[in-house]
Amino acid sequence: MATRKQVAKGGARKVNAAAQGFVDSVARSVADKVKEDLPTREEFRELKKAVRELQRKLRSGSGSGTRKAGRPRSNRKCEVAGCNLSHVAQGFCSRHYQARRREEMAAAASKPARKKARKR
Ligand SMILES: [Zn+2]
Repeated sequence: MATRKQVAKGGARKVNAAAQGFVDSVARSVADKVKEDLPTREEFRELKKAVRELQRKLRSGSGSGTRKAGRPRSNRKCEVAGCNLSHVAQGFCSRHYQARRREEMAAAASKPARKKARKR
C-alpha cells in the first residue's frame, strides 16, 4: 500500500540530489569565473588612477567655464530693427521672443472669454 508513496519519495529524493549536484556545480563554476574576473591589485591601482584622472578632468571642465552648457547658440541676431541682441527663437532675441509669446498667450487666453461672452 505504502510502496507507491515510498517510490515517489525516493524519486523526489533522487531529483533533489540531482538538483543539489547541479546547483553545486553551477555555484562552483560561477565562483571560478568570479575568481578569474576579479581584478588584481595592479589593475585596481590602474583603475583608481583612471578614476582620479576623470574626476580631475570633470572638475576642471565645469569650473573654468571652457565648456559651453545648455542650448547651443548661433551667430544670428534678433530680427527686430534696432535690436542687436543674439537670436534665441523664431528669429527673435530672448526679450522680443518673450514679448511676442506673452502677446500670443494673452490672445489665446482672451479667446475663450470672448466665446463665453457670446454665449450669454
Ligand atoms: Zn530683440
